[in-house]
Amino acid sequence: MGLRIDLAALQANYRALAQRAPSARAAAVVKANGYGLGADVVASALAAAGARDFFVALTREVAPVRAAVGGDARIFVLSGHMAGSDPGDAIPMLNSAEQFFRDRAMRPGRPFGIQLDTGMNRLGMEPGEWAAIRDEALSQRPVLVMSHLACADEPDHPMNRRQLTAFREMTDGIDVPRSLAATGGILLGPEYHFEMTRAGIGIYGGLPFADARPVVRLSLPVIQTREVLEGESVGYGNTWTATKTTRVATVAAGYADGIHRALSSDGQAARIDLLAGTQRCPVLGRVSMDLITADVSGLEEVPEALDLISPVQTVDDVAAAINTIGYEILTSLGGRYPREIV
Ligand SMILES: *Cc1c(COP(=O)(O)O)cnc(C)c1O
Repeated sequence: MGLRIDLAALQANYRALAQRAPSARAAAVVKANGYGLGADVVASALAAAGARDFFVALTREVAPVRAAVGGDARIFVLSGHMAGSDPGDAIPMLNSAEQFFRDRAMRPGRPFGIQLDTGMNRLGMEPGEWAAIRDEALSQRPVLVMSHLACADEPDHPMNRRQLTAFREMTDGIDVPRSLAATGGILLGPEYHFEMTRAGIGIYGGLPFADARPVVRLSLPVIQTREVLEGESVGYGNTWTATKTTRVATVAAGYADGIHRALSSDGQAARIDLLAGTQRCPVLGRVSMDLITADVSGLEEVPEALDLISPVQTVDDVAAAINTIGYEILTSLGGRYPREIV
């Protein structure tokens, strides 16, 4: 019942991705509370699987990871060193000249990394900015220079090679470990691996790592079942009306638990199912804050819980139903479920 997290699968995914890039150190990205699964649990399992380098987005995210992985591991902060948020014992990935000078003034001699922009135009120094501070930055010995790919989940996208070329132009010849690949980049092949990879979603069982083992199962307890007669409707707005007698189960989870309201049925047509093992129970009517209703007429016996996420219906299947990505489904899951770690 609740959110079940399979740590053996998580560790297997980490190791499998590390093996795809054997020449690189395999860092693990545990930002956003370990993609919603719990940064402490996830980070300590990955440390046990051999990870020594971790990435978070914000300095606020460092403490729970540090507590889980101990003092020896390195924790990199992708947002770098923002005004008013001292990275402490973590390593800021400095992404502008402004951040570089702030950090060097406040933390002389402490480890730092450099983040370059190679075309995504989101975070990192642009080529001109990098050229201007490069000599000074390198003289202070950064521990890592990295950039991020915009289209790595599309292997044939010409942007991948453009960014690889730009990254090499900005960094070839420097004596600093480099990192370009997240999950998608690892799968693009050895040219993209450099000295460190930064897998996130693939570790958690999501695409584009199609060979991942599923990590999450989400089982929602059935509170009540009832018979709905032809002509009666279900849920807010009366958006679904029975055309024949239907057995309806109500489960205890809703959009406050990260089950997007967009998963509501489109009038009569379900967008997503709940599952009793492999048997499908279409979601009827609106997803409300704490409750979801599903058609269980096809079941001989209604189980104690129905699954939203399982090996039969993956995180990416749920995402596809509402035109989003597995990342958003995972990070939305919220803190109200009982968590079971296996
Ligand atoms: C989130 C993130 C990652 C991890 O990406 P995945 O696609 O989840 O593997 C790596 N690097 C940066 C800069 C990121 O923002």
